Amino acid sequence: MQVDGNVAGDDGNGRNGGNGSETPAAWARVKRRLRAELGEDVFASWFARLELEDVVEGTARLTVPTRFLKSWIESHYLDRVLTTFKAEIAEIARIEVGVRGTGAPAKAAAPSPAKAASASPLARLHATPQPAPLTPMQPAPEARADGSDLSGTPLDARLTFASFVVGRSNALAHAAAERVARHEGEGALYNPLYLHAGVGLGKTHLLHGIGHAAREAGRRVIYLTADRFMYGFVNALKTQNALAYKERLRGIDLLILDDVQFIQGKSIQAEFGHTINALIDAGRQVVVASDRPPADLEALDERVRSRLAGGLVVEIGNLDEQLRVSILTARLQSVRASHPTFEVSPTVAAYVARAITANGRDLEGAVNRLLAHATLTGTAVTMETAETAIRDLVKNREPKRIKIEDIQKLVASRYNVSRSDILSERRTAAVVKPRQIAMYLSKVLTLRSLPEIGRRFGGRDHTTVLHAVRKIEKQIGEDAVLGDEVELLKRMLQD
Ligand code: ADP
Ligand code: MG
Repeated sequence: MQVDGNVAGDDGNGRNGGNGSETPAAWARVKRRLRAELGEDVFASWFARLELEDVVEGTARLTVPTRFLKSWIESHYLDRVLTTFKAEIAEIARIEVGVRGTGAPAKAAAPSPAKAASASPLARLHATPQPAPLTPMQPAPEARADGSDLSGTPLDARLTFASFVVGRSNALAHAAAERVARHEGEGALYNPLYLHAGVGLGKTHLLHGIGHAAREAGRRVIYLTADRFMYGFVNALKTQNALAYKERLRGIDLLILDDVQFIQGKSIQAEFGHTINALIDAGRQVVVASDRPPADLEALDERVRSRLAGGLVVEIGNLDEQLRVSILTARLQSVRASHPTFEVSPTVAAYVARAITANGRDLEGAVNRLLAHATLTGTAVTMETAETAIRDLVKNREPKRIKIEDIQKLVASRYNVSRSDILSERRTAAVVKPRQIAMYLSKVLTLRSLPEIGRRFGGRDHTTVLHAVRKIEKQIGEDAVLGDEVELLKRMLQD
């Protein structure tokens, strides 16, 4: 990584990426794309705290808070980030990743709210409004100055009932969604309709389907992600227009809220509760999606949770193989509309559907890989090329056997010591701590016994290992920073 001393926003070249009007929006879109492509989990682990400092002469300079994140992103995702960036800003030729607060590029002397508040999505919204990752090419909708912005998040034209494939695991959710969308006459049916499922199982798709169908039927619909909902309120509160905002929200026929597990902040939660109550009491339909059942929305007030649970709660289950084949086939077919020469044999499709078990997002990712491969090489997709193209999507899903040696190597590099330091007799703090963490990880990530672990750590006694395990366990409980760090190490090893 090269980071020079020129850290100001304006570098004298007339390019002021960090503060220009176009770049922040592009950056927001890059992040949304990454999130959509990599999935919530991966995104939250590695990219949530990635920030764009500026763009100077074709180099996008990014920063993260730790060296650990920097090296992980550099070794695993640099190409991906670059490609995604290029898709938004063609001139970008290089990516540099720096560590914030260590002489790396810093945009302003005073801590920016975006940085100070990176832990709280709501606070982050003040600085960088981030609408949902649904329509990647769409510019972030600007909030209206009077705070009454109610444009909602745009609906994605592809996500309709027509393109939704129904199978055993989602039949009930789909049926309920259709009924709600097509319901005519007074009152609401199941209110609220609450859909929950893990990532990539079709919640957002169904919500958009409801939105399209209800709009076609002439109903006033607003679709909002949790982020957008919070952003609207933050703005309305800032401009003292909360009342008008609420009035307008309550004047619609159908409110669709996506990813409500992200709703945070006391006043916003309260407003969220009021809004839901007011709409339901007025007989307006509310549809909500989340990654967990209502009872598990710990951040929300008990009364709000029970109100959310008071309508119809439906879980979407994992995609079975048959459903995966159908989704994949449908997806391939729709890609063929714009790429007529793109051929994937049923055998290859069946292989992909068997290999990728996780979710719809990965299936879509797989189709994109196959397409990229086919268009770039100009060759037909064979079993072999398919296997290569989707390898990492598949690999992520297999539970991995973790070796003690790998744990030692990773922990050593993380703490800037050598593996032989860890195995040695040295007892300086700089070595003891990583050693203990490595022992702890060996205990929790492998099936090795304590004596076996002791042997692998330079022939130590099993009581030493036990002591280390207990100590780290205790420290993790007391020290959130250490807890995060150990959690990251775990994920790296499991990845
Ligand atoms: P979630 O919101 O539950 O995380 P999404 O609705 O974003 O999941 O789905 C992820 C991807 O998988 C989308 O591209 C979506 O169109 C696709 N998908 C999921 N389930 C289905 C389905 N039953 N039929 C067609 N596509 C689906
Ligand atoms: Mg979703």
